[in-house]
Amino acid sequence: MGISKTQGIVLKYTNLGEADKILTILTRNKGKLKAVAKGCRKPKSSLLASSELFAFSEFVLYKGSSLYHITQAETRETFYNLRNDLLKLSYAVFFVEMADAVSEEELSSERLFLLLAKALYYLAEGEIPVGLICLAYQLKVMDISGYRPSLQRCVHCGKTEVQEYKFDIVLGGIICNACKKFEKNTIKISSGSLETIRILLNSEISRLNTLKIDNTIFNEIDKLTKRFVEAHLDKHFKSLDFLNEIKNSNI
Ligand SMILES: [Zn+2]
Repeated sequence: MGISKTQGIVLKYTNLGEADKILTILTRNKGKLKAVAKGCRKPKSSLLASSELFAFSEFVLYKGSSLYHITQAETRETFYNLRNDLLKLSYAVFFVEMADAVSEEELSSERLFLLLAKALYYLAEGEIPVGLICLAYQLKVMDISGYRPSLQRCVHCGKTEVQEYKFDIVLGGIICNACKKFEKNTIKISSGSLETIRILLNSEISRLNTLKIDNTIFNEIDKLTKRFVEAHLDKHFKSLDFLNEIKNSNI
């Protein structure tokens, strides 16, 4: 009764009692859920690896009165490499924190699940610059969450011929010269950056190894994305502050 099987990624956990954890898991087909992993902190537990942060596993669950309980778990990927690199680890913490912020309990989002799995995979693998993975991940999460940036036409009047590019953070798209009077929360953006945002939104993360962007464009998109994400998710990510501290300290 009530047994189900699903792939899932551990977004966070809290310890429970002597040897258990309550995991928050983003599943492939059941949305986000909380599940008790009984005895998983014992060194010989069969749930040990699957109960770690970021672990990607095939879970067998049954639903109790309030929480799910994990009866079995087969680990597919622990993304162990992430733990050997403080910068990558910080990006991964931010990725799961953002996925947690936009996902809802038991509301399925296979796209979000697959995106997180790919982002963690390529972050651990190391062939694609981490900064690019992070920008693509954030833009794609926004798209999945219903905030795809409007890059073709003015968000105020719909005009497609926009010459001087500004991005309206609140309305989530470019605005034209005629609509300048509505400007409130805008940020200047070059046509190169806009084109790059399009590529980041439309390309698989696996294809980003061929994308070359200069620092000016990177910084412009980075700034825009940060403000765009914060404005719409109404959330300040502590993991992002920590990430910036590490980047600036050049550890
Ligand atoms: Zn306009």
